[in-house]
Amino acid sequence: MAKDKKEYTTGFGAPIDDDQNSKTAGTDGPILMQDTHLLEKLGHFDRERIPERVVHAKGAGAHGYFEVTADVTKYTRAKFLSEVAKRTDVFARFSTVGGERGSADAERDPRGFALKFYTEEGNYDMTGNNTPVFFIRDPLKFPDFIHTQKRHPGNNLKNADMFWDFLSLTPESVHQVTILFSDRGTPRTFRHMNGYSSHTFKWYNDKGEYYWVQYHFKTEQGIQNLTRDEATEMKGKDPDHATRDLYEAIERGDYPSWRLEMQIMPPEDAAKYRFNPFDITKVWFHADYPPITIGRLVLNKNPKNYFAEVEQAAFSPANFVPGIAASPDKLLQGRLFSYHDTHIHRLGVNYPMIPINQPKNAVNYYQRDGYMNVSENGGDGPNYYPNSFGGPEPQIDAAEPAFEVSGMAARQPYTHPNDDFFQAGELYRRVMTDMDRDHLIGNITTHLCNAQKRIQLRQSAIFYKADLEYGTRVAKGLGLNVKEVKSLAEMTQEERAEATS
Ligand code: NDP
Repeated sequence: MAKDKKEYTTGFGAPIDDDQNSKTAGTDGPILMQDTHLLEKLGHFDRERIPERVVHAKGAGAHGYFEVTADVTKYTRAKFLSEVAKRTDVFARFSTVGGERGSADAERDPRGFALKFYTEEGNYDMTGNNTPVFFIRDPLKFPDFIHTQKRHPGNNLKNADMFWDFLSLTPESVHQVTILFSDRGTPRTFRHMNGYSSHTFKWYNDKGEYYWVQYHFKTEQGIQNLTRDEATEMKGKDPDHATRDLYEAIERGDYPSWRLEMQIMPPEDAAKYRFNPFDITKVWFHADYPPITIGRLVLNKNPKNYFAEVEQAAFSPANFVPGIAASPDKLLQGRLFSYHDTHIHRLGVNYPMIPINQPKNAVNYYQRDGYMNVSENGGDGPNYYPNSFGGPEPQIDAAEPAFEVSGMAARQPYTHPNDDFFQAGELYRRVMTDMDRDHLIGNITTHLCNAQKRIQLRQSAIFYKADLEYGTRVAKGLGLNVKEVKSLAEMTQEERAEATS
């Protein structure tokens, strides 16, 4: 054997003599059961696929670092944010949401923007999107919403009826729908988009004072999007274009970067702010809470093995470090459960032991055993707490400051002043250029025209409620009667649903 070549072995380390010929009885076969190398090889191959993520299945990832650029110690005691110029290793994964693992990167879809910070106090995950808001604000609606964005249960095809039926019966979605159907719904690459926490989180300092915060990772490559036609062409030309772009940019040393801007709200503002600050279908207007630049994210190293580092990467919004905590955002509260739960299903209960998911600090706990436990499993140390055998002790100073909750326990919507249409209207009226608006209308009508007419009418009325011109242009683009749309827009949601049932 050549000096620089490694010896080929079985998974158990035994040398393999021949990997081209199965062991047969005579030259013509049949194959013998005692070809254990063949059996091991086929058995492993048969189990290569793990369940793909139910959402965000198609993605690309990269390693990098986060660097603090401003003093934020008055807001948070998180150690990785404790000093200007401090760097923390990061792994990032970008993704589309609705498609399968082989789906095209240029699909119209939000893009996942998930970050894992390997801090000295454990892993902190920021599992955001390239949009500052979301379609729904209650996790009870999540499985239904995702069903409508995927495939029809009958023929396994994408289905415009169920897509728009759900959205038009869920008017809180109109803000996110407006962003999704702008050209930001088809970013040119993963490098040319922003990342947002979308949720509100809590930061607290070492005095126990807290603030509500929102994260905005602003691309330093500049926002660039594909038009509808460019995206359609790209899907055929290179379904993996964004995955390829990220990999190639990093290979050539053109490291993508994002500026972290924070919006910070003092707690006393929350109850009186004109929008519910915990409602994920809303933003905090920049004029009300001007973003403050506090850091920079740089991606500078490609994964060496896609499955090990990207497919097995498991992010969870429940992974906090001292100084950062949840807010009462209802969708966030649902995600705090759901991400960990899905990783246990996909990767097994010991998924934190997979190298890409391992924190860089020591893990000392009393959880034991389970499938694929590849640690020393606590050795012969105590596997219960409390104990008097030197096991790990809780650190009381790691606690989040106590906070008060009150109210009647019931299934109930937000009562904070709630207008689901105003912010979508502001985006259309105040932020978009004429070209943005033209593209938006074209992107919507070429998709919505595939739904039944009664659903087109109901959805057009939702756009009309956001902005009269917006709804009128969609209705005209679909050849609908604008008067009919206007009268539907004037109805309550229940009346509108009834009138278009
Ligand atoms: P501003 O008028 O101060 O700024 C507009 C924001 O909209 C910028 O952040 C810009 O992002 C972003 N933007 C531009 N085009 C689009 C698009 N097609 N889809 C999504 N975002 C876009 O914002 P206000 O705070 O006054 O809010 C007005 C509206 O802007 C909101 O109703 C919301 O729809 C949208 N918006 C607000 C954000 C916020 O956190 N306040 C964040 C993103 C959007 P960029 O600077 O990267 O170009």
